[in-house]
Amino acid sequence: MTTEEKLEFQAEVSRLLDIVANALYSNKEIFLRELISNASDACDRLRYAAITNPELTAGDPTFRITLESDPDSRQLTIADNGIGMSREELVANLGTIARSGSAAFLNELGDQAKEVDLIGQFGVGFYSAFMVADQVTVETRKAGEAQGWRWESDGKGSFTVAESEDAPTRGTRITLHLKEDAKDYLQPTELARIVKTYSDHIGIPITLVKAEGPGETLNSAGALWTRPKSEISEDQYREFYHHVAHAFDEPWDRLHFKAEGAMEYTGLLFIPSAKPVNLFDPERRNEVKLYVKRVFITDDCRAILPPYLRFLRGIVDSEDLPLNISRELLQDNPLLGRMRRAITKRVLGELEKKAEKEPESYVQFWETFGPVLKEGLYEDLDQRERLVKLTRFRSTEGDGWVSLDDYIARMKPGQTAIYTLSGDELAALQRSPQLEGFRAKGVEVLLLTDPVDEFWMPAMGEYEGKPFKSVTRGGADLDSIEGEAETAEKEEPTEEQSSGLDTLVAFVKLTLKDKVKDVRISNRLRESPVCLVADDGDMDLHLSRLLKQHHRLDAEAPRVLEINPKHPLILSLAKMAAAGNGNAGTIEEASHLLLDQARIMEGETPLDQAAFARRLSGFLAQALA
Ligand code: ADP
Ligand code: MG
Repeated sequence: MTTEEKLEFQAEVSRLLDIVANALYSNKEIFLRELISNASDACDRLRYAAITNPELTAGDPTFRITLESDPDSRQLTIADNGIGMSREELVANLGTIARSGSAAFLNELGDQAKEVDLIGQFGVGFYSAFMVADQVTVETRKAGEAQGWRWESDGKGSFTVAESEDAPTRGTRITLHLKEDAKDYLQPTELARIVKTYSDHIGIPITLVKAEGPGETLNSAGALWTRPKSEISEDQYREFYHHVAHAFDEPWDRLHFKAEGAMEYTGLLFIPSAKPVNLFDPERRNEVKLYVKRVFITDDCRAILPPYLRFLRGIVDSEDLPLNISRELLQDNPLLGRMRRAITKRVLGELEKKAEKEPESYVQFWETFGPVLKEGLYEDLDQRERLVKLTRFRSTEGDGWVSLDDYIARMKPGQTAIYTLSGDELAALQRSPQLEGFRAKGVEVLLLTDPVDEFWMPAMGEYEGKPFKSVTRGGADLDSIEGEAETAEKEEPTEEQSSGLDTLVAFVKLTLKDKVKDVRISNRLRESPVCLVADDGDMDLHLSRLLKQHHRLDAEAPRVLEINPKHPLILSLAKMAAAGNGNAGTIEEASHLLLDQARIMEGETPLDQAAFARRLSGFLAQALA
């Protein structure tokens, strides 16, 4: 027998344990929920493994979780006959931050004050045992392996691992030596209450072992989703969600349905109210668990849901899929594709209902998961029409969210396009000079801040016959729109001013020749003297910036500098340009400054920062002289 080995916890775990052990959190009883949840997962995993390798459960095919309390030694034991852990798994799972609950908890950790509450919101998985125990012993034997292991820790920086002769024949037994103030958790009535509260939905019997005779089963012990809806309470649904999703928020919505006929399956799906931590991982993994006839198969089944619905949590339990098929082959089963389409329609139907009946609540959903749902607009052409109606936008009309139908209802006579403006940040977009003319005429513009908008909008092209058109691209066709009468409509330039403007444009163009594609008189500006736009056939400014950031583009797409023919600064420059001769130097300097100013309004830096500073100082000195 090898001797005991002492190992250090990963630094994050030590930090977590420190918080957990000293937490003043009053709801410590959730440790039992966490340990039972793990025991149930372990049984699910063994049940699946035994389909292809029945040897694993031979001799003991009935899964169970047992609780046992011993007031004399102040010990509480939670045991399962699930899959167990090998030595490597033991060290990895109970020495590092394995995943879900604890990882999310650490991610959210901010100022000390909030930490206590967060434990309840996220649950900290196995480590929550240290809220109530000063010594934890885990004895485990992996199904099919001969050697058992013992893990032990007081939760203070390190743990020990050693071979164990006393480990269960199969599965895991966790013994907690309870802290003085946690003695209540030794009482059978208290244990029964806690199990009923948090773990009633667990599909495996949880039994309290009694010294004097047969144990008492504390939970309902049937798969929750097979029960009639009318017999499931809100609390049971919520606790099931916490268990299945490894999440601890209130679900925003729930769908519990049974499909019968050509395909038979049950679904119990939840839409969280909080963003799961891995939502934007590049794998875009779906986490809805697939069961076949109550047997857990996998929580990584790409075929059961499209990636744009990956915010869903819960289970789908099929009656038709074959049980003894590998996870890999399963993905190709055509039945799964049909289930995916049917489930997608059902989920979209539910979202449509929410959007119509509870628009305010729907907006909360949209703020959390809208950018994910929008991926469907270019990935799922079958559902695009429905998805686009579910899509909400920020716009220049008010602070809320608008739908495309709202937008169309507000279009002005003569307006043929749906106008958009893209950028990184809403506040910066609101200040964009390109919006000035639209604002002045009361023409609404959608403000887009999700990168995904740059892909689906061009792909879709239009909605109800109205093309999407970026206000930073092409000429602004404002003249043909009968907008609201502009209050401070400035006078049209005189003939003399006009000819000065033409000269100025030609001069600026010459000065900035390799820095812009063109210089033009603008009709979209009101307050600002200049702005940048893209030519009709060129790439939108924001998209070009985005691609350059991601190294998909070497240089920015060419842009056009537009100048405001009614702006006093421009008119002064035009006058100077018309007068000719000695003014060339000043106009040249001003041209560079105007371009830099337009760039700054786009959130970019001046082309040459030193030159910009020098020019600005020059003009300031002149003005102050
Ligand atoms: P999570 O359950 O969110 O993964 P936990 O901290 O609760 O995080 O558990 C960490 C890991 O330890 C689990 O993912 C599992 O691999 C392993 N584990 C915990 N308890 C058991 C158990 N009773 N049987 C087998 N494995 C377990
Ligand atoms: Mg867990």
